[in-house]
Amino acid sequence: MKLPNYVEARKRTKDKVEIEHYSNDIKDLGIGKTYHIKTYGCQMNEHDSENIKAMLEELGFTYNDDYQTSDLVLLNTCSIRENAHNKAFGMLGRLKHLKEENHNLIVGLCGCMAQEEGVINEILTKYKWINFVFGTHNLYRLPYILKEALDKNEREIEVFSREGNIVEGIPVKRDSKYKAYVNIIYGCDKFCTYCIVPFTRGKQRSRLKEDIVREVEELVKDGYKEVTLLGQNVNAYGKDLSLGYGMEELLEEVSKTGIPRIRFVTSHPWDFTDGMIDVIAKYKNIMPAIHLPVQSGSSRILKLMGRRYTKEEYLTLFHKIKERIPNASISTDIIVGFPSETEEDFKETLDLVNECKFDNAFTFIYSPRENTAAARLKDEVTLAEKEERLHELNDLVNIYFKENNDKLVGTTVPVLVEGVSEKKGILFGYTDTNKLINFEGDSSVIGKIIDVKVTSAKTWSLDGEIDER
Ligand code: SF4
Repeated sequence: MKLPNYVEARKRTKDKVEIEHYSNDIKDLGIGKTYHIKTYGCQMNEHDSENIKAMLEELGFTYNDDYQTSDLVLLNTCSIRENAHNKAFGMLGRLKHLKEENHNLIVGLCGCMAQEEGVINEILTKYKWINFVFGTHNLYRLPYILKEALDKNEREIEVFSREGNIVEGIPVKRDSKYKAYVNIIYGCDKFCTYCIVPFTRGKQRSRLKEDIVREVEELVKDGYKEVTLLGQNVNAYGKDLSLGYGMEELLEEVSKTGIPRIRFVTSHPWDFTDGMIDVIAKYKNIMPAIHLPVQSGSSRILKLMGRRYTKEEYLTLFHKIKERIPNASISTDIIVGFPSETEEDFKETLDLVNECKFDNAFTFIYSPRENTAAARLKDEVTLAEKEERLHELNDLVNIYFKENNDKLVGTTVPVLVEGVSEKKGILFGYTDTNKLINFEGDSSVIGKIIDVKVTSAKTWSLDGEIDER
């Protein structure tokens, strides 16, 4: 048994990051068995699940859409907010009942929650029936961890709290035939005071440019139309490598592969360089859609959050991007109710929203995360106040989503058609500026980038018709 340890997880040394290569000589563990995986949280987790699916299928397991009739159920968890925690524990409650009826059911837990000391202590005492647990650093060891648990018929917990390495060659079963995630950097060294990610994902470590470009070239050959370059803070790409290249050089190289669309998430404003803005403006296949989390409009709160920029610095960057890339859509993340946030601080957030008029915003109520610096701050803002602020903020951001969408009515936009909307029964896709658009059309255009004329706008989506001109 190997358990998580926050002291180890916090360490940051200058030790060189090892690059390992995936190998697996176990092949038949899952023959005749089915698996189901539930994924919580960010795109990083979604992509990890794509790796997990491929590893399980390499072992012989086949996918089952229904967890209730699967032989193996794996929860790939998220720690970012209390809500994600509660969802995973709620699911564990349902699985407990299933396991009581079917003792052969294999249940596993992985992802960020597995890296939390508190969660593992709870699993050790209250969830003894879980078969195996592994963390974010040893996802590639899944075949061995699973074999150990099944062979010994004992619970296997293997969670490393270390700075982390890079493992190339992990198999992947992509969810889409047109859009692909490509990791470019793992971990984070920013230690924003509210965030648990630096503890759960380890230190900032970039993949080599050659490995990333090779992966994108293969995707181009396979007919993919879009890549999303992934990392907790993609703008820090290369800073740990000392090879003399960073995000702007990487973007340029990826652009030259000829992949029709490039996106990247998530950007920390502190690391966003002028060079990056120039590269995005220059290359047509780098999409003009930038996610730029602000978190708060109050410089006092930003300081308490450890965000390393003031409101004014954020606004300068925001306007610089808008001037250089006028059609750019900019989205953001905002936390309300951070400890000690006053009405005045919150008003500054509203003022910033009124100035930036974001195209999209993910808004949250602050929830303390175990072992983070902010969790030790005195929090006198009541839940009712936080809820009220969230409500007010949401009303405001929605006005600007609609206003921005309205501006597109009558224009023709490039759309990557992704499929048929389950709800509407018509085609849907995303514009270059990352807006969802629904329209009538023949399914032969799925997987293609086509011109669509915007006919009307809603708060969170557009309606359109194929522009045949
Ligand atoms: S930069 Fe992002 S991932 Fe890193 S600590 Fe801050 S919020 Fe967390």
